[in-house]
Amino acid sequence: MRLISLEINGFKSFAQKTKINFMPGMTGIVGPNGSGKSNIIEAVRWVMGEQSAKDLRGDRMADVIFSGSSTRKALNRAEVSITFDNSDHYIQSDFNEIRVTRQLYRSGESQYLINNQECRLKDVTELFMDSGLGRESFSIISQGRVEEIFNGKPSDRRKVIEEVAGVSKYKKNKDTAEKR
Ligand code: ATP
Ligand code: MG
Repeated sequence: MRLISLEINGFKSFAQKTKINFMPGMTGIVGPNGSGKSNIIEAVRWVMGEQSAKDLRGDRMADVIFSGSSTRKALNRAEVSITFDNSDHYIQSDFNEIRVTRQLYRSGESQYLINNQECRLKDVTELFMDSGLGRESFSIISQGRVEEIFNGKPSDRRKVIEEVAGVSKYKKNKDTAEKR
């Protein structure tokens, strides 16, 4: 499974449709402060189902829509698409290529699509579940998170290790079974 591309249109500072092709060997994105590097990562998290506006550095979800600049009007819609090569079927789906799209309008209307077919948020979440890519996974470590882990309580650090090792979901199942 490999990330092929990310298309961003009207999301945060990306007023213009922008496509990033992740060619093999690409290891980093560099740029001056405020040029939109973190916005790219946030676009990845958002299209994969992020529900917390705060974790996207906003107050409301509509804050992800391009809010205008000195030269450009604000937009009414944000759209992000992410495409994975899934020819090894690492993501449990019959598709060899998976393209997930999320759209949000200022009116609040929103939509998710998997390979251009309308779907629910639940379908997107389930698609990435167990792939290590989900919105609460550790495949994305944000600024400040490393210090947080190192300075945290041993019990919190243990939680991180359990999540990475894939133990957490069994613990959750055990807790549910014990409550019955
Ligand atoms: P650093 O190197 O400081 O981490 P960065 O490259 O990660 O910078 P970002 O945080 O991705 O930069 O981009 C910040 C810019 O995005 C700011 O100029 C901010 O005004 C702009 N921005 C954020 N949300 C929106 C929005 N909804 N509409 C327009 N611009 C936005
Ligand atoms: Mg940044």
